[in-house]
Amino acid sequence: VTKHCYSCSAHEGQKAITAMYRCLECGYYVCTKCNGIHRALSDHTSVEIDRLPKNLNLLIFCSKHKQQKLDYCCVDHDELCCLECKQVYHSKCVKTEHIDVLAKDCKDSKSFIDYRNQLDFCSNALTNTKVLVKDNIESIGRDSEQIKNTIGSSRDNKTVEAEYELQLKEHLKRMTQECLSTLQKHISDAEEMEANTENLDRLFDFYGKTGSQKVLFRFIQSTKSDLSDTYKQTRALNENFQRLYIHYRVQEDEISAVGGRIEVSKKKYPR
Ligand SMILES: [Zn+2]
Ligand SMILES: [Zn+2]
Ligand SMILES: [Zn+2]
Ligand SMILES: [Zn+2]
Repeated sequence: VTKHCYSCSAHEGQKAITAMYRCLECGYYVCTKCNGIHRALSDHTSVEIDRLPKNLNLLIFCSKHKQQKLDYCCVDHDELCCLECKQVYHSKCVKTEHIDVLAKDCKDSKSFIDYRNQLDFCSNALTNTKVLVKDNIESIGRDSEQIKNTIGSSRDNKTVEAEYELQLKEHLKRMTQECLSTLQKHISDAEEMEANTENLDRLFDFYGKTGSQKVLFRFIQSTKSDLSDTYKQTRALNENFQRLYIHYRVQEDEISAVGGRIEVSKKKYPR
């Protein structure tokens, strides 16, 4: 969709001019000429439209007061707010600052470093988890195949009755399916978290490169709880992952009569 210059469109009678830039501080799309004027009159950072990442959500304005920019940050609540919100909701808070003050040296701040570290942690942990789970999916397939053969050969030795053999094989099939769907769920959870992480990483990279500390600060501040949720979920998935095994246990006294039992066991992955 072609965007038209916000500034030129505001002048009646002027024909629509194609916008080439977007101001990251106002959110406006502007043509080359207006971009030059806008930059001369402000310290705003604008970016060529072609360079804007997808899923860009600028988070400039207050969700309660649509005309007001999120220019303040309450340190007590650790959240961005507009001037009105500051007066209404944070009047008793000890520290509310203009983000121009807080955003200074944003790239060297603890928030910035924490954000980068959490992104890296998620990305590595999710890659590792997926490798482990995929390996487990293969080993479950092997376990299952091996047990099927064992049951089959027991049948040849007439240690397993025909009807019981069918039951065992049904049971094996069901347990294999259960294991596989548990593992598939881990994979799809990991992929969902991976998509979140990649999206935030792309935006973080973009905001880091635009050069505006304020724009970067707003981005970090407004998405860090999102990232921290993904971080916690990633840790839980990674740390709680239990490798699954299917066993076929033949009890001595059962060999001649019926055969054995099929069991699933779980083991925390050694790390
Ligand atoms: Zn224009
Ligand atoms: Zn602007
Ligand atoms: Zn507000
Ligand atoms: Zn507050």
